Amino acid sequence: MVKILFAATSVGFLGSGFGGGAELTLYNIATALQRRGYEVEVMAAAGSKLPDIPVIEIEGNVQISAQTQDRNTPIILPPNSLLANMWEYARSQQNRYDLIFNLAYDWLPIYLTPFFQCPVAHIIVMSSISQFMDEAVIKLAHEYPLQVAFYTHAQIETFGLKNVRLLSNAIDVEAYSFSPTAKNQLAWVSRISPEKGLEDAIAAAQQVKMPLKVMGMMQDPDYWQAICNKYPDVDVEYLGFLSQPALQEALGSCKGMLMTQKWVEAFGKVVIEALACGVPVIAYRRGGPAEIIQDGKTGFLIEPDSIPDLVAKIPRLDEINRQTCRLQAEDEFSLTAMGDRVERWIQDILSVRGKNQSKFN
Ligand code: UDP
Repeated sequence: MVKILFAATSVGFLGSGFGGGAELTLYNIATALQRRGYEVEVMAAAGSKLPDIPVIEIEGNVQISAQTQDRNTPIILPPNSLLANMWEYARSQQNRYDLIFNLAYDWLPIYLTPFFQCPVAHIIVMSSISQFMDEAVIKLAHEYPLQVAFYTHAQIETFGLKNVRLLSNAIDVEAYSFSPTAKNQLAWVSRISPEKGLEDAIAAAQQVKMPLKVMGMMQDPDYWQAICNKYPDVDVEYLGFLSQPALQEALGSCKGMLMTQKWVEAFGKVVIEALACGVPVIAYRRGGPAEIIQDGKTGFLIEPDSIPDLVAKIPRLDEINRQTCRLQAEDEFSLTAMGDRVERWIQDILSVRGKNQSKFN
């Protein structure tokens, strides 16, 4: 039986939301592989819990999220670093595994890859945002091309790479309930943090005079407060960082979701979650969402940063068939399809390793 160790985010425990969509991606891939008979374990910060998947809890101080730092910020590890402790665990236990999958956007595990006997494969979960990560990712892609994968073409482009593995992303679509009808309200679902551009969604909601329901992890309370001060009269309700069932219910009751990302979103997990609930998405044509949404069919792709475009498309949400949104999620982003892609990837890595081993033995 193939045994796989997953390395989770180093910025918080699983369930905290600090790891963004990568938390759910890890859980989804681990679940897909477990269902296919792989033995999986997840190494993650103390306090992490995953239903039905064994978690090895590691102590230590978390990393600062890369997206809150400048491009040229050096690599910094706090004392008693969680990241260092995780990779010390991986090093000491590597003989127990056939493969290690890393989903943390960190320099250290990429740097350590050549020092491990057990192959370490990396899913790069964000676009280029740090000089040091760029150098590490590009070197990895050149020297270990089999051991790196990305979500979208737009994300790959930010690293200036070509001919690398495109993994896309998925959710357990069956676990999402389809909502055929909606109230006259809009959703915005993301971490509350400047790169997600909440202020544009609020400005648009104000102009079309529709309530906006905000859901997501409160990463930057100062940013949130500044927006509330700027738009005191808009009907905006912050529902909190919701559990998956609560998220589905709140999101499903909305006419559409606005995705007003200011950065090159590597994927945009919430877009496929919205589609699975039958909710069309209006998104800036920037990064992953532009490769997911079918313009005019499952939502609208608009000029980045254009509030007039948001305002023009919101009344047209009624033209979108919610069933078509659900079908796109089922057809293109199912966990079964993702499981097939990941399994092919694992076979590619392990078959090359098998050849090399026989060469050296
Ligand atoms: N999410 C959640 N509860 C909420 C809002 C969001 O669990 O109230 C999750 C959502 O399911 C998704 C993640 O937060 O998995 C956001 O991921 P996305 O890829 O959209 O953005 P990221 O935070 O990774 O930049």
